[in-house]
Amino acid sequence: MNFENTLEFAQSLDANDQFHSFRDQFYLPQYAGQNAIYLCGNSLGLQPKSTETMIAGQLASWRNLGVEGWFDGEEPWLPYHRKLVGPLAKIVGAKGSEITVMNSLTVNLHLLMVSFYKPNVKRFKILMEGGAFPSDQYAVESQVKFHGFDPADAVIEIFPREGEYTLRTEDIIAQINADADELALVLFGGINYYTGQFFDLKAIAEAGHTAGAIVGFDLAHAAGNVPLQLHEWGADFACWCSYKYMNSGPGGISGIFVHEKHHNDATLNRFAGWWGYKLDERFKMTPGFQPERGAEGWQVSTSPILLMASLHASLQIFEQAGSVSALNKKSIQLTGYLEYLINQVNEFIGYEQFKIITPSNKHKRGSQLSLICKSGGKAIFDYLVSQGVIGDWREPDVIRLSPVPLYNSFEDVYHAARHLLAAVKTVVKT
Ligand SMILES: *Cc1c(COP(=O)(O)O)cnc(C)c1O
Repeated sequence: MNFENTLEFAQSLDANDQFHSFRDQFYLPQYAGQNAIYLCGNSLGLQPKSTETMIAGQLASWRNLGVEGWFDGEEPWLPYHRKLVGPLAKIVGAKGSEITVMNSLTVNLHLLMVSFYKPNVKRFKILMEGGAFPSDQYAVESQVKFHGFDPADAVIEIFPREGEYTLRTEDIIAQINADADELALVLFGGINYYTGQFFDLKAIAEAGHTAGAIVGFDLAHAAGNVPLQLHEWGADFACWCSYKYMNSGPGGISGIFVHEKHHNDATLNRFAGWWGYKLDERFKMTPGFQPERGAEGWQVSTSPILLMASLHASLQIFEQAGSVSALNKKSIQLTGYLEYLINQVNEFIGYEQFKIITPSNKHKRGSQLSLICKSGGKAIFDYLVSQGVIGDWREPDVIRLSPVPLYNSFEDVYHAARHLLAAVKTVVKT
C-alpha cells in the first residue's frame, strides 16, 4: 500500500478499519485531559472496560456463595479455567487439551523445564537467542546449575552477525546442527523483546527435533500478537504471559502449552501439586499423584479466579475479533504505517536519526518497532512522554513503539510520528 504522511490519510485508514470500534472497548490512559497515544501494549496491554464487571461477577459469587462458589453459581470456579482454554488454543494454534492457565510466566518456564530439560552427561546444553529477556536467562542458568552443570558450558547463546541486529534463520539452524550431539533443549523466544524479531518457529522446531533436542518457546511477545501454530509446528512446550498483548492486567495469569505427544509420557518429571491431580478424583485427597490428562496435569495450585476473570474479559474481545490472523492483517498495516512515518521523519531531518532494527519483512515481526536513536535518545523519549506518547525505553539507546490493532488507530501512529519529529527538533542539538 502507498502510505501518505497526512492526518486525512490516517483518518481514512481508520474509517476503513473493521477493528476501529474495538478501541471503544478499552480504557485509554489519560494525559493532560486527553487520550494518551499508547504504544506500549508490548509491555502492558490496556484495560478492557469489561474487566471490572467480569471480576465483580466473581467477587459476587464469593460474597454470596463462599466456598460453594467452587461448585455453584453461574460460573463455578472448579472448571472456570476451561472457559479460557478454547480462546487461548485458537490464539496459539493448539488443541484444547494442550493448553492451561496457571501461575506466572517465569514460574511456568521453570516448571516446564523441570519436565523438558532432562540433561545427561552427553546431552546437557540449552541453545537460546542471545539477549533473551533477562528472566529467561536467569531461569535457564539456574536450571542448568540445579542439574549440576556449569552455565558457561551448558548455555549456548546465538547472536546476530557482526554489523547486524537480528538473527538469520540459517544461522540459528546451523548452530543447532553444530551442537546437535550435545543439545538437550532449544529454548527460543517467539518474538525477541528488544528487537521485535519474530523467529521462524517452525524451522527452529524442525531443526531442534532433527538434532534430537526438545524444543520450547517463550511466547511472551508473540501470543496475541502474531499468528501461531504450536501444535502443527510440533513445539514440545511453550509458555507466555497474558498482560502484554492479551490485556489481562499487571501480573496477569500465564498460559502453558504441552504438545499432545507428551500427554501419556509417565517418565516426565513434574513438580506436582494437587491442582494437577485428575479432576474427578482430586477431592478424594488420596496419596500418590495422578496427573490430569493433558496440560492441566501441570497445574500446581488452586485457580486464582480473579486473575482468570480478568483474562476472560480480554479473551472475549479476541473472540469477537475472530482470529489473531485477522488482527494481524491490521497490525501489518498499522506497523507498516509507523515504519513509513519514521522513515519520513529521518528524511525530513536529513539523516538517519532513528534506525529501525526490527526486521522490515512483515512476516518477521509483530506489532513492535525498535528504534535505535542516533543521539539524544533518552531526551527524545522523555519529550514523547511529556506529549502523552507512551512507548518504552531500553538502555542504552532504544525506543520501542508497539501499535496494537485492538486499540490503536492509524491516527495514533500519525501523531506519534509527528511528536517524534518535534522531539528531534526540540531536544537534539545538531
Ligand atoms: C515479559 C517477559 C517475561 C516476564 O516474566 P514474568 O514471570 O511474567 O515476570 C519473561 N520472559 C519474556 C520473554 C518476557 O517478554
